[in-house]
Amino acid sequence: MDGILFEVVAKNGELKEVEVTGRISLASDNSKRTHCILLDVTEQRRADQQLRLAAKVFSNTGEGVMVTDHSCQIVSVNQAFSTILGYGAEEVIGKTPRFLRSGQHELPFYDAMWQEIKQQGVWQGEIWNRHKQGNLVPEWLTITALTNEHGEVENYIGVFADITKLKASQAELDYLAHHDVLTKLPNRRKFLNNLEFTLSHVKRSQKPFALLMLDLDRFKDVNDSYGHAAGDEVLLNAAKMIKDALRENDMVARLGGDEFAILIEDLHLVTDAAQVAQTIISTISKPQMLKDNRAVSVGCSIGIALYPEHGTDSEILMQHADSALYLSKKKSKGTFEYFTADMTESALQRMQIEADLKLALTNDELRVFYQPQVILGSNQIKGAEALIRWQHPIKGLLAPNHFIGIAEDSGLIADIGRWVLNETCRQAKVWYDQGFTQCVYAVNVSPKQLAYTNLLEVVMDALQATGLPAECLELEITESGLMGVGEEAVSLFESLRGLGVRIALDDFGTGYSSLSYLKTLPIDVLKVDKSFVDDIPYNEQGMQIVNTIIAMGHNLGLKVLAEGVEEDVQKRFLQLKGCDYYQGYLMSRPVPAEEFEARCLSLTSKF
Ligand code: C2E
Ligand code: MG
Ligand code: MG
Repeated sequence: MDGILFEVVAKNGELKEVEVTGRISLASDNSKRTHCILLDVTEQRRADQQLRLAAKVFSNTGEGVMVTDHSCQIVSVNQAFSTILGYGAEEVIGKTPRFLRSGQHELPFYDAMWQEIKQQGVWQGEIWNRHKQGNLVPEWLTITALTNEHGEVENYIGVFADITKLKASQAELDYLAHHDVLTKLPNRRKFLNNLEFTLSHVKRSQKPFALLMLDLDRFKDVNDSYGHAAGDEVLLNAAKMIKDALRENDMVARLGGDEFAILIEDLHLVTDAAQVAQTIISTISKPQMLKDNRAVSVGCSIGIALYPEHGTDSEILMQHADSALYLSKKKSKGTFEYFTADMTESALQRMQIEADLKLALTNDELRVFYQPQVILGSNQIKGAEALIRWQHPIKGLLAPNHFIGIAEDSGLIADIGRWVLNETCRQAKVWYDQGFTQCVYAVNVSPKQLAYTNLLEVVMDALQATGLPAECLELEITESGLMGVGEEAVSLFESLRGLGVRIALDDFGTGYSSLSYLKTLPIDVLKVDKSFVDDIPYNEQGMQIVNTIIAMGHNLGLKVLAEGVEEDVQKRFLQLKGCDYYQGYLMSRPVPAEEFEARCLSLTSKF
């Protein structure tokens, strides 16, 4: 007979569950006796409860559970097991889990797994099993060996979670980390991985391959004038055109911005790379029609580095293709260049100069030299051209051709240009105050300064800070430099002239020399390029050109100055043809301010 359960409080205050059974008997004197047996069932009840709980967890958990005996025969599985793998309990009990194997793992994988279970009693890891329907299921599995009191394994319990979703998001993450979102092309990281992979494979075979670095020309213009949506469309088109020009096995990646990298394997001839480059350049250079029917025209330049000729590791190859690209852009856009050893040398030098140049301003290493500009006929000094020099701590005095280009590329030109302007105005004001009020000082302005700084503001600041009258300042801009800046330059020059500042067109004759263009420009002085002056007196044609430029300039109401006059015969010819001014070694080389003051200004009458 089952007893009745009671909760009782023991003497020590502990709550206990007891099962009470009792019996009533008759004693010999016929009196009734009650016999009670109190059985403490507290522990047993607790264990029962836990067992029920475990059973609930077993059947309700989202993780698949499989229990086997010591010989790996399945003794039970839970509902989640069936949901994840498709098998009902009745189909699997009595079998070993081997039938779940996916074929994704080699035998050593399972050997290592069992080895660990034997040694540690537990194994955890990722495993692929096969669903009843045949598809693969990635699982995160923990197998635990359960032993009895003698240390013998009685059961193995496998608990696993289905990580299909996790895997999918991992794959997506992986995709995002290795691809460019816009073009869907591999990105820099993936490109470098592939490059490393290719390198490790060709190390033995030494099979040549080519690394091409490609940069779109005029892409910034498209972005600036048509907007980013148009820019994106151009990038997408470019990506497609590049892909179309490549074979299946070649790889193209977008490194960022408008820069792409291409890997061409299995080169039969070294010239194969050039052929691919040329095809890409020709297609990308064709005008493109955008979705909104606007036509845009971009182009591209390409640098090529070859393995193993130009480098045997990824970093060097990338660097060398980059140097070649840089040069092809510099020389003329829309072309390709192979890497050459000179490029590294010059790239290294450029980097060094750029680093030094950053310090030049703060270390007060820049100087302005002055070269007199002379009025033909009178030998009076009209003023001077301010020419920058760099007193390099190790290399000595450097001429601008060593560093202006680098300053332009790196953006340092903004600060350097401002400094030259301020320093020249400051010095000019000193001379102005000494009485040389008619002298005009010409400062060179880089086209990059027009693009990246507010030149009008910079000029107004310099004039205001130094007190130099605007009439004493002239700005020189090269004819070729003007081509890129367009319409805005016209209004900028008008504003500058409105202040009283003069504008000179430098190196005239070397650019487009378009007369109709010249008419639209608000300028004051034409500077005939030295290369034409050099032709005097031996080259008839050159002399004719000088003659024409002078006449043409005068027709347009401009003053004409001849540059680079070294010989007296040149000066006489120019004077004869009515040229207004000259500048050149014949009169003086560019010299420091003190020397200019002592030797040249003294020739000028004070007004
Ligand atoms: P540029 O403006 O055409 O300056 C004239 C150049 O010709 C100067 O070279 C000058 O020294 C040189 N020269 C003058 N007369 C003769 C001559 O009779 N014979 C020979 N062989 N050369 C002569 P420099 O000073 O080396 O300047 C070179 C160029 O660097 C300048 O050409 C100018 O474009 C640029 N530059 C100079 N200073 C600055 C500056 O402050 N800012 C910018 N952006 N560019 C500058
Ligand atoms: Mg100049
Ligand atoms: Mg010049």
